[in-house]
Amino acid sequence: MNIILLGPPGAGKGTQAMRIAEHCRIPHISTGDMFREAVKAGTPLGQKAEQYMSQGLLVPDEVTIGIVRERLAQADCANGFLLDGFPRTIAQAEALDQILEDNPIDLVLSIEVPDAELIKRLTGRRVCKDCGATFHIHFNPPQREDVCDQCGARLHHRADDTVSTVKNRLEVYKQQTEPLIAYYREQEKLVSINGDQAIDQVFQDIAQHLEARQ
Ligand code: ADP
Ligand code: AMP
Repeated sequence: MNIILLGPPGAGKGTQAMRIAEHCRIPHISTGDMFREAVKAGTPLGQKAEQYMSQGLLVPDEVTIGIVRERLAQADCANGFLLDGFPRTIAQAEALDQILEDNPIDLVLSIEVPDAELIKRLTGRRVCKDCGATFHIHFNPPQREDVCDQCGARLHHRADDTVSTVKNRLEVYKQQTEPLIAYYREQEKLVSINGDQAIDQVFQDIAQHLEARQ
């Protein structure tokens, strides 16, 4: 299955993506993770992306579409993939439809969470740069403070998870990404998921929809 995870920053896309990717045995493709890796490696792409990411703005469409086009051409995507954080604009969604042509998106899971909850989730988020696991200081704490349960590496507070940047990111989501809900509803691919529940419950709801389609 070709799946998109849609939702505002902090909705739980990354948290659920790790579980969905394992459950469906498909690669998890996060454009945010790809940009952060490029920033860490100091490549020209990373230098460009960082200018936008640090302000909570979207990286320009042509750059983002280019990296997704290359990633989807890799062999591991032949039997399905899970997109997390892409598309984020109508132009990206239209480009994706063209890239996929005869092998279109099957399902768009839209994870919905109220704004006040998103701010708490993002400002308390801690991430493992080594294995990609995500924690929260209150809602999903690691067993040892600031240490990843899965691989033992030190956890980090993302540079764009500060209150002011989070507010920009939520505004950008409303203006540029929320219109995708109507875009995919029209294509009859959209399923709304209540993300304001315990992590396991959210996954159970998602798994029910996945099983209904398999
Ligand atoms: P996204 O990828 O959509 O930006 P994340 O998966 O990184 O969101 O989740 C944001 C933060 O919220 C993380 O700290 C994560 O541990 C926490 N979180 C995720 N899902 C839930 C949930 N259902 N309830 C409470 N906290 C959650
Ligand atoms: P995320 O990890 O999904 O929260 O993304 C972190 C940041 O990376 C965003 O705030 C954007 O600056 C950038 N980014 C990630 N995905 C995209 C995308 N599809 N389009 C534009 N910018 C993106």
